[in-house]
Amino acid sequence: MIQELKNKAKELGFLSIGFSKPDKPAFMNKFLNFIKEKRYGEMKWLKRNVHIRENPSLLLKDCRTIISLAYPYPSLKWKTEDGFTVSRYSHPLEEDYHIRIKRLMGEISGIIKSLFKGARTRLCVDSAPILERSFAYRSGMGFFGKNNMLIIPGYGSYFYLGEILTTAQIEFEPERQMESGCGSCTKCIENCPTGALIGPYLMDAGKCLSYLSIEWKGQIDHNTAKLMGNCFIGCDRCQEVCPFNPDSDQGELVLPHSDDILSMDEKRFNELFGRSALSRPGLSKIKQNLIAIKNASPK
Ligand code: SF4
Ligand code: SF4
Repeated sequence: MIQELKNKAKELGFLSIGFSKPDKPAFMNKFLNFIKEKRYGEMKWLKRNVHIRENPSLLLKDCRTIISLAYPYPSLKWKTEDGFTVSRYSHPLEEDYHIRIKRLMGEISGIIKSLFKGARTRLCVDSAPILERSFAYRSGMGFFGKNNMLIIPGYGSYFYLGEILTTAQIEFEPERQMESGCGSCTKCIENCPTGALIGPYLMDAGKCLSYLSIEWKGQIDHNTAKLMGNCFIGCDRCQEVCPFNPDSDQGELVLPHSDDILSMDEKRFNELFGRSALSRPGLSKIKQNLIAIKNASPK
């Protein structure tokens, strides 16, 4: 049965699939400290459902198994014609990954329901209060890097994570959890432009450019814009410098000229990017960020 799920995941393009029990997640105490020390910026929703994060069975009554799935996104950099970039995960020319990955996971869920009569499932892609990296780690899929990303040895960290929670009692051998492969490397911490990586495995999300350029409702100030360099949505620096990821200079994928983006109206934006993850920050935030980094870049 488990092999059937693994085969289907591979056929659908997932990099990895792992199984764990819905117990208290690994690194729960780390998350509690993150909340206690208010390192979540204005993302107040992170502190709201701590009890659910601690007990994922509250997301699905009688949950017996959590299936973690990793789906790759391109390691190539997205660039506008004039050299401004966006984070790789945003995949501007594809349908928003929340929808895309969930649809693929729905196919695996279908197999679970056919193999386990009466089984229920709940699919989560960044959409439920669950410590997704903790469960992927517990399933033996990869290790936690000092940049707080899950790293799959031999692949790296350029992937989305999703979970299928199910009432099905899937039999699996518990995997051995991977030791960190970081060793003495501290490249991600040294290269984080804002100091959001406050130490190994420790993040102040309120300082992270990914949060400030996407989630944060305020306007990017001049100093922050300087730190953003050419990237107007997200920030991949702590992944780019990681030796487990492919060389970031290997190529690029092209977006319209930044002036075209700045002169775009909502209708055109929706035609080009309305289905992609760029719709989350939205056109107005994208324009604000672009203007801020253009004004901050050396003339
Ligand atoms: S995404 Fe950028 S700002 Fe955020 S932790 Fe990584 S390097 Fe730092
Ligand atoms: S850059 Fe180095 S320290 Fe940071 S996650 Fe990668 S291997 Fe670990």
